[in-house]
Amino acid sequence: MAERTPVIAGNWKMHRDHLEAIQLVQKLAYHLEAADYEGQEVVVCPSFVCLRSIQTLIQSDRLPLALGAQNCHPEDEGAFTGEVSPPMLQRLDVTYVIAGHSERRALFGESDEIVNAKVAAILRHGMRPILCVGETKEEREAGTAVDVVVSQLRGSLAGIDIALDNAEEVVVAYEPVWAIGTGLTATPEDAQEMCAAVRTELASLYDQAISDRIRVQYGGSVKPGNVKTLMGQPDIDGALVGGASLSSEDFALIVGHRRD
Ligand code: PEP
Repeated sequence: MAERTPVIAGNWKMHRDHLEAIQLVQKLAYHLEAADYEGQEVVVCPSFVCLRSIQTLIQSDRLPLALGAQNCHPEDEGAFTGEVSPPMLQRLDVTYVIAGHSERRALFGESDEIVNAKVAAILRHGMRPILCVGETKEEREAGTAVDVVVSQLRGSLAGIDIALDNAEEVVVAYEPVWAIGTGLTATPEDAQEMCAAVRTELASLYDQAISDRIRVQYGGSVKPGNVKTLMGQPDIDGALVGGASLSSEDFALIVGHRRD
C-alpha cells in the first residue's frame, strides 16, 4: 500500500479579519515545533480577504504552512460579481481549495455538478482540491450514508482524470454533516468504515494504486482529545478542522498530536 502524507487543514469559515488572521497564524507558528511539520502537511484556510496577508506572512517568516482557500468559482474570469476565480487564488500561492463543503451545499445550493466543475478548475490551475462529502443525520439514520457519500463522490469526480502521479494532489474530506460544528464526532470505527468505503469507490472509479495515493481526511468536531484515535485509523490521512482551528493552542495540539 502506498505511503500517504497526512494533511491537516484548518477551515476558519467566515471568522477572523485579516489582522486577526495574521495574529492567529503567528501564534500557531509559535506553538508548533519543527518536528510537527515533518511527514505531514499543515494548511490554513482563511477567508478570501485574508489570503494576501497570510501569503505574505508565510513567505516573509518562511513558515512551512500551506495556504488554502474555502471556495472558488469554476470559471477563470467573467461577469460573476462577488466571486473569486482559481487563477486569482493560484497567484496568491494558494495550494489547497475546499470544494463542496456541506455548508456550501446546504446554504448556497451547490450541487455535485457545480462541485465537479470546481474540482476540475482547481486541478486545471495546479492547485489541490479538498473535496468534501458526507451524509446528514437523517441519511445516517435511514441507513443510506454510504450510498449518499458514494453518489457525491461519483458526481463530484465525474470526468475528472486522476493519474498515479497526481493522485496525491487530490484530497477527499469525509465530513458527516451531523458532526460539523456540533461537538458530535463519528466514532473512529464509523469514520474509518466510511473512509474505507470512499477508498473502495475511488478504486472502482480509477484503480487501486491511484486510490491508495489519494488522501482521505475526516472532518467533524475534530479536537485535541480525539484527533489521535481518528488519525490512527488506516484509511484516515488527516483532518479538516473547523471550530478548533480558530484557537492557535487547540490547532497546534491537533497538529502536534504525535508529540507524546
Ligand atoms: C468544518 O468546518 O469543515 C468542520 C469540520 O467544522 P468543525 O470542526 O467545527 O466540526
